[in-house]
Amino acid sequence: MAEFDLIDLIRRRCDIARADVRLGIGDDAAVLAPPSGHELVACVDTLVAGVHFPHGTAAADIGWKALAVNLSDLAAMGATPAWALLALTLPQADAEFVDAFASGFAELAAAHHVALVGGDTTSGPLAVAVTALGFVASGRALRRDGARVDDAVYVTGTLGDAAAALRLLGSAREAEPAFAELRARLDRPQPRVAAGTVLHGRASACIDVSDGLVADLGHVARQSGVAIEIDAACLPASPALLASFDAHERIALQLGGGDDYELAFTVPTAQAHALAEDLARSGCAATRIGRVVEGSGVHAIDADGVPIELSRRGWEHFA
Ligand code: ADP
Ligand code: MG
Repeated sequence: MAEFDLIDLIRRRCDIARADVRLGIGDDAAVLAPPSGHELVACVDTLVAGVHFPHGTAAADIGWKALAVNLSDLAAMGATPAWALLALTLPQADAEFVDAFASGFAELAAAHHVALVGGDTTSGPLAVAVTALGFVASGRALRRDGARVDDAVYVTGTLGDAAAALRLLGSAREAEPAFAELRARLDRPQPRVAAGTVLHGRASACIDVSDGLVADLGHVARQSGVAIEIDAACLPASPALLASFDAHERIALQLGGGDDYELAFTVPTAQAHALAEDLARSGCAATRIGRVVEGSGVHAIDADGVPIELSRRGWEHFA
């Protein structure tokens, strides 16, 4: 299939119409009209086969995840997603692959009313880079540097499922009933876009958990000039995770695993309860997992207050 036929196939699969797209796919660049009183929020994340998703991942799941990880970054800023660009590198012009890929991408794009407004198609080892664009009321973006001593620390949803799926992948334990649920969290993360819009202007700092809770909260701690203490016994876990690992292994996966795409945030203690209630009402419960204290770094303690050794500080590229 020729390059332009592939682009046409993608365009037809992803046909979300938005009035703020003045010019979409087909010209040299897109022309977009952000709403007045708002700031543009932009991010790009690349998925490389074998690094960010296992070889053999279904094409539709790759399409979903490529957009999901970027919508998660927008959610962590409290932004409302609007537009995306897709840079696709393919080993061959495989129409069947592109069709399935685009359908997974389009499914998530439709759920968040995101228009695909352009991209690039090249040949090479399979890799996908999505640029996502959204907006937030001027001055109200959620940042990493606003955590203050005595703030409460929360996380949305549950942690550890995706890391658990990666741990079990390729082993005999893939046959266990819980594996499919864990694998779904790895392949089809749900970006917490609605939660981000509840948090914006209210959380003191926010980040999405992509590299692992300790590693990501480490960015918040450093950029805010504080330390964060995590109560390991409070980490929220899914029934599938609880069924699959003992407490020791589970907590290690939850602290260090990554690929969760949940939002970790800090909030002044006095406002924490009301914010958590509003999040639950929006359909995304959050759990209090710790506190901001003086000092530096991220520390985890067990139910008795005894420090937990953090051996694996999350996933680091080029480590
Ligand atoms: P140019 O040569 O001017 O960069 P291209 O021939 O690469 O343009 O692309 C033609 C049009 O198709 C552009 O509007 C571009 O944004 C869009 N496009 C190319 N690849 C993709 C893709 N994978 N997904 C969405 N749009 C794409
Ligand atoms: Mg051009």
